[in-house]
Parts: sequence; structure tokens; C-alpha cells
Amino acid sequence: MTGKKMSKAVFLDRDGVINPPVYNPVTAEYESPHYTEDYSIYPMVLKALRMLMDDNYRLFIVSNQPSYAKGKVPLENIKAIENILSEYLHENGIIIDKYYYCYHHPDGIVAEYSGHCKCRKPGTLFLEDAIDRFDLDAKECWFAGDRDTDVKCGKAMGMRTIQIKNKHVGDKAGKETPDGFATNIFEAAKKITGRE
Ligand SMILES: [Mg+2]
Ligand SMILES: [Zn+2]
Repeated sequence: MTGKKMSKAVFLDRDGVINPPVYNPVTAEYESPHYTEDYSIYPMVLKALRMLMDDNYRLFIVSNQPSYAKGKVPLENIKAIENILSEYLHENGIIIDKYYYCYHHPDGIVAEYSGHCKCRKPGTLFLEDAIDRFDLDAKECWFAGDRDTDVKCGKAMGMRTIQIKNKHVGDKAGKETPDGFATNIFEAAKKITGRE
């Protein structure tokens, strides 16, 4: 009991929240972007993240990126896209305390990244790491994502959750009950900061 104030944070899913998912003609599904040319960032991301920073929320990105494990794309492509995002946010004064990416997949074909892991959402390994490393109060934290696995992940750590509606999410949403819904990341930021 030091009386030291713990930090609060918002954990953000990436695909469908920060950037649009991209249509993959091979699988006929909207997926994480595989090529830098396909990567775009929603225009309201900066003002949303600034609003959260203004209210003293630490920011984390937690994303499952199994496409390399599944043999769909080289790992370098995935990392190049990550770099576009981190440079863009950095150049615009947004501080992401840590980017957490899981490259595993239970049914992967690349041995190194295949099988069960504890970091793939709804696994909570990354959240546990952030809570420990940054002395976060989970009850003051939020998880915002478009899939049920995001809601599940946040809830498992006792965080509040916002599900961001994404018309391409299909059956990956609809079975969990988040604390709130939002149409995009800006609306989510307004809910979290009580500005709506
Ligand atoms: Mg997503
Ligand atoms: Zn993992």
C-alpha cells in the first residue's frame, strides 16, 4: 500500500478498428492487410487517440496476425505494415506504450508459429504483461475491438469493453455482450472519456 496511483489504459485491436480489413479474393473474406499498398488508416484515428491521451489513458495495440503462420504472406510484409502504423502515429505525436502482436495460429503450417499460445486473443498474456509492466488498474482499463474475441479478452481481465461495429466482421461478432457499442474508434473514444 504505497498509495501510488495506478495507470489506466485503453487496449485497441488493430484490424477493423485502426485500419480497414482488406478483401482477400483467395478466401473471399475480409482479412488483415497483407501488402503495404493495401494498408490505410482510418482518418479519425488521430483525433480519437489524442482524446484518450488527453484523458491520461495509456494506449496499447493488441493484434492477432496469423497470416504468416498460415502460409499466406511473408513475415516481412506483416512487419512492414506494422512499421507504417507505428511511424504514422509517432510522427503525429501519438504515444503507444507497446504494440503487442501475436503471430501464432493453432492450425498454422509454419512450425515456429503454429500451435496454441497464450498471446492469441482471447488469450490474455499481452494484457497481463501490460498490467504488470505499466502498473495498470484493470478496472480502469478498456478494450476496444470489433470481434467477440476482443470483448472476451478484455472481460477476462476485468476491463470494460466496447465493440466497434464493422460490416465485414461476419459471425466473428454478436455472441458476446460488451459494455458498449460504437460505430468507429472516434465514437468509442467519446464513450470511454464520457464526452458523448
Ligand atoms: Mg479486428
Ligand atoms: Zn500468440
